[in-house]
Amino acid sequence: MSDTPGAVLDAVGAQRDEMLAFLEKLVVHESPSLVPESQAPIFDLIEETLDEIGYEARRLPGDESGGQLLAAPRGSDFGGVDFDLDAPAPASGASAPVQLLIGHCDTVWPIGTLKDMPVQIDDSIMRGPGVFDMKGGLAQTVFALRALHRLDLQPGLMPLVFINSDEEIGSPESAPHIVRLAQFASRVLVMEPALGPSGKLKTGRKGVGQFVVEVTGKAAHAGLDPEAGASAILELSYQVQRLFDLNDPARGVSVNVGIIDGGLRPNVVAPKSRAVVDVRVPNTIEAERITAAIHALEPATDGASLEVSGSMQRAPLERTPRNQALWQLALEAAEDLGLDIEQGIAGGGSDGNLTSLLVATLDGLGAVGGGAHATHEYIDVPRSLERFALLAAHARGVTGQPATRQPKGPSEGLPRATDRAVDLGTCGPDKDLGRDNNNANGEQ
Ligand SMILES: [Zn+2]
Repeated sequence: MSDTPGAVLDAVGAQRDEMLAFLEKLVVHESPSLVPESQAPIFDLIEETLDEIGYEARRLPGDESGGQLLAAPRGSDFGGVDFDLDAPAPASGASAPVQLLIGHCDTVWPIGTLKDMPVQIDDSIMRGPGVFDMKGGLAQTVFALRALHRLDLQPGLMPLVFINSDEEIGSPESAPHIVRLAQFASRVLVMEPALGPSGKLKTGRKGVGQFVVEVTGKAAHAGLDPEAGASAILELSYQVQRLFDLNDPARGVSVNVGIIDGGLRPNVVAPKSRAVVDVRVPNTIEAERITAAIHALEPATDGASLEVSGSMQRAPLERTPRNQALWQLALEAAEDLGLDIEQGIAGGGSDGNLTSLLVATLDGLGAVGGGAHATHEYIDVPRSLERFALLAAHARGVTGQPATRQPKGPSEGLPRATDRAVDLGTCGPDKDLGRDNNNANGEQ
């Protein structure tokens, strides 16, 4: 990169207005996850713009989602990558020399949000639904590749762009494809928003799980014969205490009983009750420990029984050596450009959690701003333009990054398309969990 940083910065600066205009178009096409037909205009815009710089695209229609888009340089045959989930995975070490650039075009905002959250741009701030999470990252991806094209710079690894439209609901349809693509790739760059106002890159993300504890007691008349019953509500109250006792801030573990329900009437000893539990963990050791602890819950009330279901839905994105090596390359690219960047750990999950199990992954390369999933959602335009340059430099600069797939089963422990879509608190309002989570490297 040492010969080109000035040229990259100039190319980025020259495209500023065009990129913002493109981003505005992406934002005004509202695209909530649960409205599949709303995603096609976004895919069209991206496909058209990439077509102008010699990329071809392939669409994968969704079943209940708006589907996915894969784009790669024309004539590259997508690096031999396919969407055939039944085909064998590439042999270990046989990764194509491709880098996967991942983003999502769905947002959490329903159609009509623009009326209350119109697109607004001034010199340094752009607002609008989805501008930060993560249409800004999509615009950066397209324009970073365009900058390289205009400079006639060949990326060290062939870029494969993958955009899904169900990330905000836990990627139920796209996750198997992401896992398959990650098996082909030598590295993955995730274009989710950066962390915090300074725009830290995300080198750690907590794993996310959801569990349900169902209690069966025995109904009885609360006045005439209460001793004949077994209260599922009383039993649930004990289990709620035990679940909250699993919280361990020092280890970066959070367990939240977010929903409880049960009972029939005030004068009936409750025969049924239920708790829904959200779990966040910094590493696989804690994931296994907390999962085992929840499944080992035992009833404390005579006559009551428990049924526990659920699992970790997204494994933690950990600071593994290969992920840290990729972060170091980003750091070098930033230094070449004269930019200061830092790394941070986010509480929410993203599709990077999936790919990190298989290949070197760096997340949070997208826009700098704030207010993800909030009405004040915005991007910091100058800092996001810097990230556009960083992505171009990073995507261009790698020549020596080794293929680092793990020789493990491709879908081991990963959600399948058939898994229930749950709100995993996906890529949204993350705060930096930084030093509270020094154990996030999985060495504990
Ligand atoms: Zn996102």
